[in-house]
Amino acid sequence: MRDVPVDSAQGLVVLGWRSAEDGLFLRARGEPDEIRLRCLCGRCHWIVRELFSGGATTLVLSCHNCGQKRTFLTEGMAAHLP
Ligand SMILES: [Zn+2]
Repeated sequence: MRDVPVDSAQGLVVLGWRSAEDGLFLRARGEPDEIRLRCLCGRCHWIVRELFSGGATTLVLSCHNCGQKRTFLTEGMAAHLP
């Protein structure tokens, strides 16, 4: 497991994610291991929203602590339809 600062993670294509006690973990294209996303404020907990539009799912993350927001493209993630 590897911590990645959120600004270095820009442009990653997310294949899957899970939220755990010690933070948010992402599987990303081209990354052999899961990465843990670390915010500028040093925390690794994010509120995750999946936005589905036009056949693509976008991951919108907001830091639990400081409200920092980032958006990631995803691939191969099923839409969670209501
Ligand atoms: Zn933060």
